[in-house]
Amino acid sequence: MARLQDPVTILKGVGFTRAKQLEGLGIRTLQDLICHFPRGYEDRTRLVTIGELEEGVPACFRAMVAGSPRAAHIRKGLDLTRVQVADHTARLTLTFFNRKFSAGQLEYGKEYIFYGQLSGDYGGYGMTNPVFEAPDSPPVMTRRVLPVYPLTAGLSNTALCKAVSQALALCDPPEEILPPQVRAEYGILPAAEAYRMIHSPASMEEAAQARKRMIFEEFFLFSAGLALLRYTREEKPGAVLTDLDLTPFYQALPFALTNAQNRAIGEIVGDFTKGRVMNRLVQGDVGSGKTMVAAAAAYLAVKNGFQAAMMAPTEILAEQHAASLGKLFVPLGIRVELLTGSLPQGQRRLVQDAMASGEAQIVVGTHALVAGSGSFSNLGLVITDEQHRFGVSQRAKLSQLGNSPHVLVMSATPIPRTLALLMYGDLDVSIVDELPPGRQPVDTFLVNESYRSRMNAFVRKQAQEGHQCFVVCPAVEENQELNLKAAETWAETLQKRVFPDLKVLLLHGQMKSAEKDAVMSAFARGDGDVLVATTVIEVGVDVPNATLMIIEDADRFGLSQLHQLRGRVGRGSAKSYCILTTQNRNVQTLERLKAFCKTNDGFQIAQEDLKLRGPGDFFGSRQSGLPAFRMGNLGTDLTTLQQAQQAAVAWIDTQGTGNTPEAEALRRRISVLFREGGPAMN
Ligand code: ADP
Ligand code: MG
Repeated sequence: MARLQDPVTILKGVGFTRAKQLEGLGIRTLQDLICHFPRGYEDRTRLVTIGELEEGVPACFRAMVAGSPRAAHIRKGLDLTRVQVADHTARLTLTFFNRKFSAGQLEYGKEYIFYGQLSGDYGGYGMTNPVFEAPDSPPVMTRRVLPVYPLTAGLSNTALCKAVSQALALCDPPEEILPPQVRAEYGILPAAEAYRMIHSPASMEEAAQARKRMIFEEFFLFSAGLALLRYTREEKPGAVLTDLDLTPFYQALPFALTNAQNRAIGEIVGDFTKGRVMNRLVQGDVGSGKTMVAAAAAYLAVKNGFQAAMMAPTEILAEQHAASLGKLFVPLGIRVELLTGSLPQGQRRLVQDAMASGEAQIVVGTHALVAGSGSFSNLGLVITDEQHRFGVSQRAKLSQLGNSPHVLVMSATPIPRTLALLMYGDLDVSIVDELPPGRQPVDTFLVNESYRSRMNAFVRKQAQEGHQCFVVCPAVEENQELNLKAAETWAETLQKRVFPDLKVLLLHGQMKSAEKDAVMSAFARGDGDVLVATTVIEVGVDVPNATLMIIEDADRFGLSQLHQLRGRVGRGSAKSYCILTTQNRNVQTLERLKAFCKTNDGFQIAQEDLKLRGPGDFFGSRQSGLPAFRMGNLGTDLTTLQQAQQAAVAWIDTQGTGNTPEAEALRRRISVLFREGGPAMN
């Protein structure tokens, strides 16, 4: 017997070269090898007669060699061997290219099992390079479901198959970590069986069952980890806030809050008084007014003598939050500071000093807030805006700042509940499902180049009425090949050739922060008619006077991302519009964009996006906080995900925190998964 931790070199046929190749696939130990799952299977179980073979459909058949193999040398590097085979239904000519040796082993008069694909051949049928085995040999290449592995240069599928089956024969598979009750309830295979079946299933059905088990396990571990995190956090004592009078805050607001905003604030107040650390997600569509919910929470924290930190994914957004919170809070005698990576050293030090002394009561920033050495004197509340841009691990880092602060996260991306549980399974959720009064839905249109001049006239009309317009381009630099309207060039063209009478501004991610800041605040002040930008304006930016959003080459964006962009308009009381341009003629692409034009419902759009593009692209950005799974596919394995989540939550609630060997083994696995971080933690 060998152990799972043994190196692959203990296997027969695995020397230095093969070990290097395996290492290229991340395989060093027998365990790695056993956990290297097939990416698919070839069903070679179907046994037919020669007469039943169909062109283009690979199948196995049993036939007798009806003539001696004849080899011919065609030219250097190419020889060809032909052999006739037959069964009771028909004869067939097999042609082998460069397989003189193996084809030469076919013995006249003997029977073999072949696997191959029939093809048309000079008016007749033939078969090229079939694989074959003697009927009494163990089924390796024929009469079985053949696993197809992810490979690397020089390593054949056959070599990998052999190595895996050796490893499985030599050692016990990884330990079972799914509790028996869970397996029984959801019809999940035991580990030992599943590891055998995933590598050598007797049928496609077995392969599917084994795959399901592995996916279930993966989802279960992650969900149980989140549930455990939630459980331990709920045990953590949190600062109790006692001064809960929001009257001065409400009086300082220029508007009355919506019921949904008030409800969310009520839930936060509830958390603040419980004596446990708050971990709450505020989810609401773009424009639903989440910032004010966060502001109320920050106000309470400050009133109770704590500091509050607010983290935003971009500098522009951080600057904007600092400005609007400053406007609201400074008159109330609360000091708001901004801390971003691009702040000059001296200024940054001043802010950090104020944080350390406690004078800075609310600090708004980007990652710099967590990355830097800045520390707070008495941090009581951490808020993250647009949480979908951050992963679980970044959130965990935030709550390690200071002394177990309350945590509030906000996200505009309405995602299906199952996925929300994956990202936020450790959080309580408040939903802001109401827009402030007077909002009108944004009318959205899809146009092609032939509408360009009408569109330009529309921009001018909006400007003449005193409104402003965003133009979003997909990339910063000109990419001739794709003919994208790079923001820089496009801004210049618009200013010089199209709107010489209007003021066109430019904003993109590669500009210096101070420049971005200047442009953004100028535009927000109304100084500028058209703002040409990249997706840096995607999240959160608020210019209520902007009534038109033009998205160039809209086919380049994901639907959820388009929805975020569209959310930049329709924030004031004036009627707003969104125009998508595209030169794409792909029917599906156009359908997708047309569907987007018909609805303003972010949730529906998210569902559609998930269906069409899969979760990888879900947020239109690789930076999403969604975990990446090895086996499970969040687009197609949703049912398994739901079951695993349900099972994991129930397990943690009932037995997962106990000290049975089972519970302990599972917790060990979870802590490895969460500590290693890696892809799953994103
Ligand atoms: P989001 O939820 O997308 O972060 P914001 O917090 O940026 O939305 O709010 C969008 C706009 O709506 C801002 O201009 C904000 O001042 C305004 N707003 C927020 N709440 C209300 C309200 N209750 N009534 C009117 N306007 C509001
Ligand atoms: Mg926002």
